Amino acid sequence: MHIFAIANQKGGVGKTTTSVNLAAALAASGQRTLLVDLDPQGNATMGCGIDKRTLTSSVYQVLVGLAGLAQARAASPSGGFDVLPANRDLAGAEIEMVDLDRRELRLKEALANHAADYDFVLIDCPPSLSLLTLNGLCAAHGVVIPMQCEYYALEGLSDLVNTIKKVHAKLNPDLKIIGILRVMFDPRATLSQQVSSELEQHFGDKVFRSIVPRNVRLAEAPSYGIPGVIFDKASKGAQGYIAFAQEMLERVSKF
Ligand code: ATP
Ligand code: MG
Repeated sequence: MHIFAIANQKGGVGKTTTSVNLAAALAASGQRTLLVDLDPQGNATMGCGIDKRTLTSSVYQVLVGLAGLAQARAASPSGGFDVLPANRDLAGAEIEMVDLDRRELRLKEALANHAADYDFVLIDCPPSLSLLTLNGLCAAHGVVIPMQCEYYALEGLSDLVNTIKKVHAKLNPDLKIIGILRVMFDPRATLSQQVSSELEQHFGDKVFRSIVPRNVRLAEAPSYGIPGVIFDKASKGAQGYIAFAQEMLERVSKF
């Protein structure tokens, strides 16, 4: 079982879109996949076609020890993968977990009993370096970093890389950066090209070859509760994520 956190503390950079579409594309190529929504916004949950307002149990109950994964997970109706859903309850978990034992390892321990159930677990992290994200990073073997090729993106990236280094040193020796994914890419913008080549210079083959273009179909899909790669498979955005999933499979086969 490969466990990957999709993380970037910057908001709105495409974490959830990447999580949902990678999960659906991996599932479509026969991989048993679980998507963990670790964000109280519940965007991944809704984007997978699960109503966050009607959950009886969610990732919140799992983290505070009130439910197991088997109880709280649900199947994405069109996605072909399982979801450990989230809603606003999760916002309280941060405070409640402070008093719990091994508070940064709650998710890792919840997943440990289910190593045989899945080939891939993807964790959609919230836009912060909070205790929730820390749970994601402690549970994961690797981090996938989606980023927009804008000027300030590179600045934020060094904070994230430092956090990953600290977690690796102190809490999770398994953790590594799997790769940086360029998303919402606009090939006509000079800045996109510049930032993109700077990324390649700094991070070399840590930068995924696949690039996901800015594409309105990916932005429309969540309102139907259908992953973009299923909603409009032929669209340029969907094709970007399908290629990315293949590259991911290639990369993990070399581990
Ligand atoms: P947050 O930090 O709030 O969790 P996020 O990093 O998860 O945000 P998303 O929610 O995936 O980011 O994306 C932000 C917005 O951009 C959404 O409205 C989404 O539909 C849109 N979006 C994401 N990727 C693309 C793309 N390739 N083309 C067009 N729109 C996109
Ligand atoms: Mg998100």
